[in-house]
Amino acid sequence: MWSRGLLQQVVRHASNIRQAGVLFDVDGVLLRGGSVIPAAPRALRKLVDRNNKFLFPVVFVTNAGSCLRHHKAQQLSHLLGLQITPEQVVLSHSPLQMMKSFHNKCVLVSGQGPVTQIAHILGFQKIVTIEQLSEQHPLLDMVDHSRRPTSTPCSSQILPQIQAIILLGEPVRWETNLQLLIDVLLSNGRPGCVYGTQMLAQMPVLACNMDLLWMADAPSPRFGHGIFLLCLESVYKKLTGRDLEYAAVLGKPSLLTYQYAEQLLRQQNQNHKLSTIYAVGDNLMTDIYGANLYNRYLAKHHSKMMSGTKLVAQGTGTQTVMAEEELAFAAQCRSILVCTGVYNPDSPLPGDQNVSDMMLHGCKHLKLEPDLLEPSHVVEDVEAAVDLMLQQESSNT
Ligand SMILES: [Mg+2]
Repeated sequence: MWSRGLLQQVVRHASNIRQAGVLFDVDGVLLRGGSVIPAAPRALRKLVDRNNKFLFPVVFVTNAGSCLRHHKAQQLSHLLGLQITPEQVVLSHSPLQMMKSFHNKCVLVSGQGPVTQIAHILGFQKIVTIEQLSEQHPLLDMVDHSRRPTSTPCSSQILPQIQAIILLGEPVRWETNLQLLIDVLLSNGRPGCVYGTQMLAQMPVLACNMDLLWMADAPSPRFGHGIFLLCLESVYKKLTGRDLEYAAVLGKPSLLTYQYAEQLLRQQNQNHKLSTIYAVGDNLMTDIYGANLYNRYLAKHHSKMMSGTKLVAQGTGTQTVMAEEELAFAAQCRSILVCTGVYNPDSPLPGDQNVSDMMLHGCKHLKLEPDLLEPSHVVEDVEAAVDLMLQQESSNT
């Protein structure tokens, strides 16, 4: 158990040098569906001072994406009884903010919730939704007989050619989205036209949240956006013989998401470099794989920087460059797996056999490395994860 006084001592000491930061996954770690996991409030209380201010930089990184950042912050604040700001929340689509080269293209967004508002806040200027497309081309969506047009419709609204697709999250009517996305891909952005006969370059597809499963209130995990993407990839492959290529994959385990989350942690640390990032999650394939991948990226970055720094030091004899460059990245990222969500130590799911197949879907640019599925620590719940982190930090002071 940690007394507040001892904890503050740890933090005071840490703040003089380099501070640790924490990344919390949400579903299966702090919440399950709409319910708070009992260990969560106890864990967070250990990380705040008497005024409920966080003692360490803390960011909540979730692969959820069917909502706005400030709504997620409000929901977390309400459920967890603490003030959590939008700047402490990373949703699967948040890093799209950094991908400015797509912001002035006409993008088709697929998902549910306020997708137009989400895309607009992220910086996109020309946004078309699946609903708009379906309205403009009512002959395309034929699965539900009750929604088929009874006469040949004439469309008044002319939508521009689609130049890129953004898959924000799982839609509600999968058959509609699958059909229209395929239509857009095979007609090169003009779904009212007949499919092209020539194999043109595939238009850019940006996909957020590759989670196959997630933990809600039901006893077993539920389908995530990754299962929808699996369907889309299978249909595309079946019809074209080609693999669906992603221009970017966002959300855990992608590096982009961790880079973005670290930026937010650093902002809470007055832009000072962090010592260790502790990433707490319940999913081996996203939270643990992602944190370990990022740890390896940090290690590579530092070793490259060390060799680069030596050259600089030899050439100029100055230490200033090293000090400035060192500001950028944390020294390491430790992965902590909890047993309150998708991962169940008694009946691990998915089985090891399936892990590689499931991971590799859609992440063809990522070569699966089973070593990265090994968490730095396995603990019972998020309170045990926080205790572990505080213990490690105290032994470093
Ligand atoms: Mg989770």
